[in-house]
Amino acid sequence: MHFTGTIWRPPYEANSLLIEVTAGCTHHKCKFCTLYDDLPFKFRMTPMEDVEADLAETQAQLRSWQSRQVKRVYLVGANPFVLKFERLKEIANLLLTGSAGFAISCTMN
Ligand code: SF4
Repeated sequence: MHFTGTIWRPPYEANSLLIEVTAGCTHHKCKFCTLYDDLPFKFRMTPMEDVEADLAETQAQLRSWQSRQVKRVYLVGANPFVLKFERLKEIANLLLTGSAGFAISCTMN
């Protein structure tokens, strides 16, 4: 799986599959915030090849865990909503067509 730095997610996403689609923050100006100080860059979009590889790895793992189901996917990175609609749609289509139909969520943090 491709993860960059510390991964932040809400407690209610504890059982969700985490897929990194962005890393770092697009704003980076809040004085109190140290969330992404450990990254060597301010912000980047995850290459689609990495998202595809992570989903393929997940599907292989899920096949080996026959009793375990993933029902939700949480898109991580500080701000997945900064992605253009077409990119989010491409990611959503990958999630929906290559799986048993995950529910998808993401927030800005
Ligand atoms: S992650 Fe959120 S709180 Fe931190 S700098 Fe970016 S916008 Fe501000």
